[in-house]
Amino acid sequence: MPVFDSRSFRNHEQVVFCADEATGLKAIIAVHSTALGPATGGTRFWDYAAGHRRSAPIDVAETRGEQDAIYDVLRLSRGMSFKNAMAGLRLGGGKSVIIGNPKELGTAELMRAFGRFVNRLGGTYYAAEDVGTSPEMLGAASESTPYVCGLEGGDFGTGDPSPHTALGVFTGIKAAVKHRLGKDDLAGLTVAVQGLGHVGQYLTDHLRAAGAKLIVTDIVDANIKAVLAKGDAEVVAPDAIHAVDCDVFAPCALGGILNPKTLGDIKATVIAGAANNQLETEGVEDEQLRMRGVLYAPDYVINAGGIISVESEVHKERPDNAAREAKVLRIGETLTRIFEASDREKRPTGIIANEMAEDIIRRANEAKLAAAAE
Ligand code: NAD
Repeated sequence: MPVFDSRSFRNHEQVVFCADEATGLKAIIAVHSTALGPATGGTRFWDYAAGHRRSAPIDVAETRGEQDAIYDVLRLSRGMSFKNAMAGLRLGGGKSVIIGNPKELGTAELMRAFGRFVNRLGGTYYAAEDVGTSPEMLGAASESTPYVCGLEGGDFGTGDPSPHTALGVFTGIKAAVKHRLGKDDLAGLTVAVQGLGHVGQYLTDHLRAAGAKLIVTDIVDANIKAVLAKGDAEVVAPDAIHAVDCDVFAPCALGGILNPKTLGDIKATVIAGAANNQLETEGVEDEQLRMRGVLYAPDYVINAGGIISVESEVHKERPDNAAREAKVLRIGETLTRIFEASDREKRPTGIIANEMAEDIIRRANEAKLAAAAE
């Protein structure tokens, strides 16, 4: 498999492969860019070979799983660079993956071993919670390194990022509605929310308070009940939510919801939600939506509230609620610039956002080089 020439490796500053025999740790830390600050992004703990074991001999499955892990970490670290750049943060982009089943392998010893590898990078990379890692697991890693963020307590801990993510998504929905429907508020509009987890529940609170009608779904009944306990909402089946009659579709569950199978069913005029990697293929579904007059808010721009909340922790500053909220609310303005450029240039919003992010990173690199040359 080509690495240096692969599209996802492109422009990475450093990629580190880590193994610890005693704990079974196999991890990859990808530092895409430190142009804007320390590369910051979550630690994903995932059994990449699981799907391959059903169809291939064990050694082949493990090799394919490792290839998937490399692809995943590179794609995600580049995504973090773009997200942090578009949010105007003093953070670069990075990501790490630990290969294996977290339920079987995710011991405190393994996380401390992982922390030792993060520590060796000397602050180039900061780890945070992601799929498969919990606050407790990151807490164990932080026993070996100060380069972990998103922790509870302490002088600089910023805690649960979800309320900030939800506020950013709400702000982004309002910006998208203003741009596409010309409306200053959400009163009377119907918003379909897929996924009522940490972000989805905070988001439904904001939407209700703004007078929106809700259509919701989740695969966990308790999460639906929690939302219904606070007010009215129409509940639909998980596989029907993308196709309901609504003004705004807000994907807040898993990635890949915008794909060739779902796209034709979508009736919303705005798609704006928290889920990462909503498009199956960047530049494909967002272009088809644009051609149909559906406005897509690029996921990593609208869901940046969580990483915005973590920025102060990386820089060892005490959380400043007012400054953080002001930054989260700027997500709306950033999206409006993307929407306007997309209309002007007749190109998909996802591609416009990527190019804006690349430009910010390139200029930061140039400024760094110029400062070093002085
Ligand atoms: P979560 O796990 O708390 O919530 C996800 C919810 O989606 C769960 O309630 C789950 O039951 C539900 N779900 C899963 N599959 C579903 C399906 N097929 N149909 C309907 N519901 C389904 O996660 P979260 O923290 O709320 O994050 C939601 C999304 O936003 C994720 O994609 C996450 O990567 C992204 N995101 C979250 C944050 C954050 O601050 N938490 C920040 C940025 C991005």
